[in-house]
Amino acid sequence: MKYANIKYNDIANGEGVRTSLFVSGCTHHCKGCFNEIAWDFNYGEDFTREVEDKIIESLKPSYIAGLTLLGGEPMEPANQQALLPFIKRVKAELPNKNIWCYTGYLFDSELLSPSRAHTKITRELLSYIDIIVDGKFELDKKDITLRFKGSSNQRIIDVQKSLKEGKVILSPLNEKRQKGI
Ligand code: SF4
Repeated sequence: MKYANIKYNDIANGEGVRTSLFVSGCTHHCKGCFNEIAWDFNYGEDFTREVEDKIIESLKPSYIAGLTLLGGEPMEPANQQALLPFIKRVKAELPNKNIWCYTGYLFDSELLSPSRAHTKITRELLSYIDIIVDGKFELDKKDITLRFKGSSNQRIIDVQKSLKEGKVILSPLNEKRQKGI
């Protein structure tokens, strides 16, 4: 897997101060995408063990809430394959850090149901993820007042509660708006 960028001390892509990993490769091609350069699976740098080590080190301070995966599309089948061992490692070494993932695929009807994004390892991958922000970016539903999402169709989902209850459970963060707007 290649990655396009890593943002340290990021406060825009999830709750609290985070490390955000922008993976390369996305087949959704949403109109108005914020990161078109990362559509190409070959864009950027190799995601090596050294890069993993650097991210893990960055997550250690107590003021860092966790890791965010975004892109590109972390849930493209090839990216799921590469991310599974890494997020297993993050959860094993830093169990108190939470993991967010932004995906254009829908949690219930695509990631958990037969679709090109539902692979043999998808459910296992989801078992390590705390929050998913799902849905493609829809330009006509763009809303800059919403926190943690770009358009109003997107949902902030509590993954562990949803898996346990067998239905989509939205996070209370869902309706949160940007301060001062
Ligand atoms: S899913 Fe995200 S990265 Fe992919 S095209 Fe849409 S906005 Fe861009």
